[in-house]
Amino acid sequence: MRIAMIGTGYVGLVSGVCFSDFGHDVICVDQNADKIDQLSAGKVPIYEPGLQDLMLKNVEAGRLSFTTDLASAVAGAEAVFIAVGTPTRRGDGHADLTYVMAAAEEIAAAITDYTVVVTKSTVPLGTNRSVKQTIAKANPAAEFDVASNPEFLREGAAIDDFMKPDRVVVGVQNSRAAEVMGEIYRPLYLRDFPILTTDLESAEMIKYAANAFLATKITFINEIAGLCERSGADVKEVSRGIGLDGRIGNKFLHAGPGYGGSCFPKDTAALARIGQDHAYPMQITETVIRVNEEVKQRMVEKLRDACDGSFNGKTIAVLGVTFKPNTDDMRDAPSLTIVPALIGGGAKVRVVDPQGRAEGEALLPGVKWMEDPYHAARNADLVVLLTEWNEFRALDLKALARKMTSPRMVDLRNIYNAKTAKRGGFEYYTAVGRAERV
Ligand code: NAD
Repeated sequence: MRIAMIGTGYVGLVSGVCFSDFGHDVICVDQNADKIDQLSAGKVPIYEPGLQDLMLKNVEAGRLSFTTDLASAVAGAEAVFIAVGTPTRRGDGHADLTYVMAAAEEIAAAITDYTVVVTKSTVPLGTNRSVKQTIAKANPAAEFDVASNPEFLREGAAIDDFMKPDRVVVGVQNSRAAEVMGEIYRPLYLRDFPILTTDLESAEMIKYAANAFLATKITFINEIAGLCERSGADVKEVSRGIGLDGRIGNKFLHAGPGYGGSCFPKDTAALARIGQDHAYPMQITETVIRVNEEVKQRMVEKLRDACDGSFNGKTIAVLGVTFKPNTDDMRDAPSLTIVPALIGGGAKVRVVDPQGRAEGEALLPGVKWMEDPYHAARNADLVVLLTEWNEFRALDLKALARKMTSPRMVDLRNIYNAKTAKRGGFEYYTAVGRAERV
């Protein structure tokens, strides 16, 4: 099967590489010539574990190539995937469909034979129908169908998620498109992963509903965490206690500094907007968005308390700024709220992150980037654990505390506990949702 993948971001590149690994012929297209140059030279422009090796393997096998020339990739392709960005539109929370529609126009002009145009980007209800209209209008002779195929991979575990998905969702309008999609995903089907075939709108809704549900689950435990702190309960015990209930499940129940990343913030905003557009406010989602902002502010206040009420003149070492470990993605990371608040309050901020620097330098002006936690902690007043990279999970707390002017730690990921911190020489330690502290 010949596939064109439009967009080589986190989703497009991973999908393209994995489809080629299934045995399909894949051409990945991006309008960013710099990205295509890097990819053609065998370099992956993002940090995603395992991606580089899998990409090189399939390039060598002759199944995977890269181009900026969309028309040549689309001509003769049986399926064309749109995997471009759908960021929040400035001002109104709506998903910005500019890139999707621009790609649809370009695809229209390049279609030769029967093609299924598949939207992999996360898009609001009705977008696949708009893509269909756009293509039909631009090229009335084109023989094509549209399909919605939302992606559920997680950055940092993207290849595994793509290869072993909980499910694949495919929205179609007829059996011809369904057959093409079935053929593309057949290698998974043989391994018995469920492929759910629906209409276009249900597929579009499944993606938003899934992300809004997960954002709600995280926000729920974060809110419970705030109450735990005030009432003497331990949110880690509470998470375990409720997560063992099969109806609740134990995933996405880790209290922390609020959700961030490239999907949850923009997709919850878009769902809220879709609700408003249909005069049917998504009240739970709207509340989740608001509470998540409050959670981040609560973290700032927690850090202020650890600095005796003022950041002014303090030196603070922040460990981890990407929105989660194993990615270089900084989009809507909680660090983008928390770090500027520290700097705005007069603190000197040092930052350590295994992969975040390239993206983070422009986003976090005024911080000093350090190579490792121990250098960052030298003469610092406070260490903040913000992203739970493995590199920060087994710190030598004694060595860390010895470097500091006042050994204080705020652990926003609940990696350590008060007892361990005290044993390590910290005179102040607090975490999230746990009353116990040093
Ligand atoms: P991204 O911003 O990392 O990548 C998008 C790429 O598309 C960019 O490289 C851009 O240059 C390219 N592009 C834009 N318009 C183009 C055009 N007309 N022709 C060729 N290339 C073009 O985005 P992403 O994180 O990969 O997300 C893509 C979509 O997938 C979004 O809708 C997102 O919501 C969804 N999604 C993302 C994730 C995730 O974890 N990142 C997970 C599931 C779904």
